[in-house]
Amino acid sequence: MNPAGMPADDDIVFLDEAHDAAATAARSGAEGVWRVLIVDDDADVHSATTFALANLEMQQRPLEFLHAYSATEAREILARERDIAVILLDVVMEQDDSGLQLVRHIRDVLKLSEPRIILRTGQPGYAPEIDAIRDFDINDYKTKSELTRIKLYTTVTAAIRSYEQIRAINTSRRGLDRIVRASTELMALHGLDNFAAGILQQVAGLLECEPDGLVCVREGGNDHGELFIIATLGACEGLSRNAAYGIGDHAIARAVDGSFGARHHLFEAQHAVLYFPGNGSRDFAAYIRTGAPLGEIQQRLLEVFARHITVGLDNVMLVSRLHNSAFYDPLTKLPNRTRLREILDESLSLGNREGIALALVDIDHFAETNDALGHQFGDLLLLSVAARLQGELGEQLTIGRVGGDTFGVLGDTALVNPGVLLRLFDKPFSIDGQDVQLSATAGLVSLADYEGGGADALKDADIALKRAKLLQRAGHFYFSRNMGVDIRERVRMMHALRTAIEDNELFVVYQPQIDLASRRPVGAEALLRWKTKDGSFVPPDRFIPIAEYSGLIIEIGERVLREACLELVRLQQLGFQDFTMSVNVSQVQFRHPRFLDMVRDVLHETQAPASRIELEITESIAMEEPDALIRLLGQIKQTGISIAIDDFGTGFSSLSYLQRLQADRLKIDRSFVTEITSSARGSSIAEMVIQLGRNLGLSVVAEGVEDERQAGILEALGCPLAQGYLFARPMTVDQLRTWLKQNGAR
Ligand code: C2E
Ligand code: MG
Ligand code: MG
Repeated sequence: MNPAGMPADDDIVFLDEAHDAAATAARSGAEGVWRVLIVDDDADVHSATTFALANLEMQQRPLEFLHAYSATEAREILARERDIAVILLDVVMEQDDSGLQLVRHIRDVLKLSEPRIILRTGQPGYAPEIDAIRDFDINDYKTKSELTRIKLYTTVTAAIRSYEQIRAINTSRRGLDRIVRASTELMALHGLDNFAAGILQQVAGLLECEPDGLVCVREGGNDHGELFIIATLGACEGLSRNAAYGIGDHAIARAVDGSFGARHHLFEAQHAVLYFPGNGSRDFAAYIRTGAPLGEIQQRLLEVFARHITVGLDNVMLVSRLHNSAFYDPLTKLPNRTRLREILDESLSLGNREGIALALVDIDHFAETNDALGHQFGDLLLLSVAARLQGELGEQLTIGRVGGDTFGVLGDTALVNPGVLLRLFDKPFSIDGQDVQLSATAGLVSLADYEGGGADALKDADIALKRAKLLQRAGHFYFSRNMGVDIRERVRMMHALRTAIEDNELFVVYQPQIDLASRRPVGAEALLRWKTKDGSFVPPDRFIPIAEYSGLIIEIGERVLREACLELVRLQQLGFQDFTMSVNVSQVQFRHPRFLDMVRDVLHETQAPASRIELEITESIAMEEPDALIRLLGQIKQTGISIAIDDFGTGFSSLSYLQRLQADRLKIDRSFVTEITSSARGSSIAEMVIQLGRNLGLSVVAEGVEDERQAGILEALGCPLAQGYLFARPMTVDQLRTWLKQNGAR
């Protein structure tokens, strides 16, 4: 504090910050001056005051005077002007209390708490009350006669110091508030880039200046580390962020290097560099162009801010690393399936997708190579394929790794086509010093008028790829609509079927079987039905394969068996003792390790007589895994249950095999029954099956008998039993009971 040409005022004790606070106030207030408002209706007072204070200068800042000759004029000036440090105010003007009213207006209405007010009056009797001086935060009260040049000088100097202190305290309080707010706002930003840009914004807010600067990260966290700019704002925005190594602007680069080297903040005349230590493997620096030196308070605020933010920066790094591993393949650093799906979603949401395609490129025999030569070799192989795809196509196309040995390529069909893609594999790949010749298969989807989203496109490309793999290696296949329909339709049906089980939409119907000679019922086949909520039926030929493929058949099959057994017990109770219940069992059920236990449990629970139960297995099952099947069938037969071979004649079971299966009955497939009336030849397959049954001592049932002629021929051929629409259609339990009664069942 050294007012030019004036003695130091020892009577006033200054706060430590005062000196630095001056700089603060200076930067944010009217640049380079202290503004003093003189309010007095006497023009002489104005000139005397400006004359007295003309040479006063504090911290190289002169005074600037504003003049008001009435309270009214003062109000206008105060409403318009900012950063007034001191108001020299006449108490008596238009009215006796004009001055005091103006003070009230300044503090209460304009809410200006910072300007210092010195009241002056010509007449001692007009001194304001002590209360007013306190309540309105009046600095000083002087009679005009007291204000000699020296007195005026010291009074104004003291008022200006007081003003700077108040400004400084307010600035730091606002700053601290802002830091708390800034930290919260910053934490809400996702991603390192946003966070870094947020830092620059918040610093600008703290310093109350335009944001201009950059944030960079030093990978490796030492002097040899590579520098990457992660955010730029203001004039720095021109600096290329792609210039991965180093910063284009030499002055900025030097400043940033200085901060990294010293590992702390730097505050210079035109700029500041904040240093964020990071977590060891990388540290950060924020360069901020300030254009003027920062005051001590501002520097301290930035230090506090940086300390707060370092923790956040570490968290953001952690989150963005997690983000990276969620979206990028750690081996090849390429976008992974999730990321590629996002990119696809973006591409698909754009209107013009003409000439855009997605290809999945799969390395042939990769699994075998991986197994034979080890995972390390496999990784190198993937890396070199990734490098070739990226190197040859990466500029124009999006390349990702969507699975183990499958890469996704998205972009213009001029490049995303089998010719271009598969030709990339013509040259051998150099792996571990070795030339390895690879081939690949591609599945492609054209996005031109694709209707689904990214996930669908990936799935469809997968389907095309599988098809291509199935048909030929080193080939390709384009996805066509009907290729996906069956698979997607199947998935949809699988979900629907699951709900159908819960909602009890599945139930069992029974189709009677009769003795051809007597036309009397001897039993029934349990057949599953699915009636959907809209009342329509889904045929078993459609949903049973899906139930099998999804495993749902295990649960469904058990329900059918239990239901059929319970119905069998009830029919016996109704007096139908001579009645056999046939239940279809699929291959998947047979393979299930608990199948035999399940059958035993159901028998036990329902108390159904095993000797009256028959399981139908298709001829195709009967031909698979003979030894295991024969053992299982043996165990089933030990429970007393008998076995029928369904759809017999459609497969190629050998006679000796049939004997080993210990089947009890053959069911002639409907197609052979239909054939017997049209067959010109004397002997039909149906006839052969009937003879076979007779020779092996097996019972035979003809399926799908629809008319009397068929029934007549079958009977003549010696077929004992039949089932078909001619006799009865599949029916509900109630219908079955009535039907059995009407048709003389015993
Ligand atoms: P399947 O075991 O050969 O059953 C005979 C099929 O022929 C039944 O079809 C039956 O309604 C039909 N049918 C019977 N008589 C005639 C006729 O005179 N003319 C014609 N055109 N058809 C006739 P459905 O009920 O549609 O069953 C189809 C297949 O679904 C069954 O063939 C069976 O393989 C399977 N299935 C049905 N229910 C079950 C079950 O509970 N479990 C298992 N695993 N499969 C079942
Ligand atoms: Mg059947
Ligand atoms: Mg059948």
